[in-house]
Amino acid sequence: TRADITYFGAGPAALPTDVLETAAQALLNYNNTGLGIAEHSHRSELATNIINEAKADLATFLDIPTDEYETIFMQAGGTGEFAASVYNLVGAWVARQHAAVLKELGADADEAKVVEALRKRVQSRLKLDYIVTGGWSLKAYQEAVRLLGPEYVNLAADARTINDGKFGKIPDQSTWKLSEDAALVYYCDNETVDGVEFPEFPSVLAPRADGSGPIVVADMSSNILSRRFPVRNYSLLFFGAQKNLGCTGVTVAVIKKSLLPPNTVQPTPTLLRKLGLPIPPIILQYETIAKNNSLYNTLSIFDVYIAGQVLKKLLRTFPDKVDGQQKVAEQKANLLYAALEAHPDVYRIVPDKSVRSKMNICFRVTKGGNIDEAEKAFLKEATSRGLTGLKGHRSVGGIRASNYNSIPLEGAQNLAKFIEDFAKA
Ligand code: PMP
Repeated sequence: TRADITYFGAGPAALPTDVLETAAQALLNYNNTGLGIAEHSHRSELATNIINEAKADLATFLDIPTDEYETIFMQAGGTGEFAASVYNLVGAWVARQHAAVLKELGADADEAKVVEALRKRVQSRLKLDYIVTGGWSLKAYQEAVRLLGPEYVNLAADARTINDGKFGKIPDQSTWKLSEDAALVYYCDNETVDGVEFPEFPSVLAPRADGSGPIVVADMSSNILSRRFPVRNYSLLFFGAQKNLGCTGVTVAVIKKSLLPPNTVQPTPTLLRKLGLPIPPIILQYETIAKNNSLYNTLSIFDVYIAGQVLKKLLRTFPDKVDGQQKVAEQKANLLYAALEAHPDVYRIVPDKSVRSKMNICFRVTKGGNIDEAEKAFLKEATSRGLTGLKGHRSVGGIRASNYNSIPLEGAQNLAKFIEDFAKA
């Protein structure tokens, strides 16, 4: 049964049992309407309420200033956001350049001249910067190259170059080759596969005193709701729900309102075509989804409902909001790393100490010299103790304990104890 296991899978992750019990009931009969939550119209008032409450609770828990940021629910996963971030922020960059060209040439300038000036700017100045620190930021970088072509995409840092071709460190910020006026600077705050987490917001990307600064985009899919972060330093952050927030099916994007209408209006398809830039599918266009309060098309309200219930539980559990959850996350991670560190002859922690993830604890079992055998034995014995989902990502192997919010302290303690016992056996 659920009570017999602690599931350390990387995503989809375990959900709190009481949330699932409430959701199971809602699936049959939501609020005594006789109809389940997945059957009600996404255009109904109750659906709108679920969306608005989830947005508000997210903002409360993370202290997102709602006058400056819009939150939307998207449907194409974290992977969809790799593309959405490119389309929308290239669009915003073009909109800024367009305004600058009109200022230069005059508002009544000949259209062909405006397009020509813009095309020159695109060719000579459009750059997207990627800080690649693991498999997911690498995928995001590759998607940008695929959509735009390599000439517009700058690999500002590649962590593999300082670690024998492998991920596991974050290059010193002084070595990042950042472009001037980049359409975005992208990084992944927590690399789920490689167990690499930024210890704090990278200071080179911080806004300047006058409020200007780089357009920072972060993928927070696997550590959202586990730590406090300086919201105002970001232009866009996104996260899939299926780790700390809820179940698979919704992805959240939090966007600075200065990048949305009426402040920024995406270029028309005609203009993008003339500039040789890709046209975003409407479903990935933030301004369209935002304008429709995430209901441009049929959204899975059930998934939003689950996320909403998780947020309500977090708010009930932690009066000091995300700071409270952060303390628990750190306590659990420290327990696990300490257990591993106590036996360097048996375990090798994969990432460098300075960038160890508090969410995805990646290590190898070296006991006896035959890693394959040792890891097989580790996984088998862990499973027999009800500790499941510990196999590392297929691309890197090894062991990965995903220590998300739904893992109770006791679950982490049990795993730490097993790590000890296995080492001593
Ligand atoms: N970013 C990160 C950090 C992830 O961990 C994942 C999935 N595990 C993704 C992006 C991709 O998300 P999805 O599978 O929802 O497309």
